[in-house]
Amino acid sequence: MLICRTVAECRAAVAGFRQAGDTVGLVPTMGYLHDGHLSLVAAAKARTDRVVVTIFVNPTQFGEAADLDAYPRDEARDIALLQAAGVDLVLIPEVAEVYPQGDETIVETTRLANMLHGKVRPGHFRGVTTVVARLFNFVGPDIACFGEKDYQQLQVIRKMTRDLAFPIEIVGCPTVREADGLAMSSRNVRLTPEDRAAAVVLNKALTLAEDATRAGTTVEALRDLIAGTIAAEPRATLRGLDVVHAGDLAEVSGPVTETTAIMLSVEFGGILLIDQREVTP
Ligand code: AMP
Repeated sequence: MLICRTVAECRAAVAGFRQAGDTVGLVPTMGYLHDGHLSLVAAAKARTDRVVVTIFVNPTQFGEAADLDAYPRDEARDIALLQAAGVDLVLIPEVAEVYPQGDETIVETTRLANMLHGKVRPGHFRGVTTVVARLFNFVGPDIACFGEKDYQQLQVIRKMTRDLAFPIEIVGCPTVREADGLAMSSRNVRLTPEDRAAAVVLNKALTLAEDATRAGTTVEALRDLIAGTIAAEPRATLRGLDVVHAGDLAEVSGPVTETTAIMLSVEFGGILLIDQREVTP
């Protein structure tokens, strides 16, 4: 596995892949890898000849410097995991390599980025699209894989890719969970043992919502059910609950008659966890 620190090294290596006639898949990450990330690697490997993973904790998508500083990192472990997973190239750039002249040029999906979770974390999705556009230009992949767990992020990236005509297929991948149902996240290690145990409430609330939808329900009843389930867990604070059309993220109301996306963000002692579910009547 090639380990590149600069864009120039990465471009040269990818040019070599291209010369050999190989297709290229990209998996962007912020490192501290878990089985969720590795499932994206497996999805890319199944679709392309060569897989490139990026590890970059992107400062422009963090609201607070403290959150950025506290983001867990373990480069040696990440490299070993990617090597074992059969990745061809990992790009681990410094901030100055990604933003050599600052971040004056931004990419923003103006509507999608500022609704729903974008309201809870102002500027977050602008940071995501800005860095992903740069990574797309550094690597030039045929496909790029993203997790459905970050549901709004996936829609934002699909929209940016279409609008800016990147010739890249965006592949959405299902959420990988811990044995107790908590969605895997690099942030989970920051939870206290008590909060970690309580965090199963996200999956519990979404599963109840899924069952209720199958039995027949309304958007309003779903919201009450989820908010009530979270409120019953004293360690949890509900930060965002959106019940939207699965395709365009438009707010919905009344009886649930088609596939609907629920996006949930819940805070435990300063750590924000997110989860999502598409529910179908
Ligand atoms: P992150 O390193 O958290 O920025 O995540 C990098 C990519 O991995 C994003 O596309 C995430 O949606 C995806 N991802 C994170 N957690 C999971 C998970 N539990 N299952 C599947 N994909 C995930």
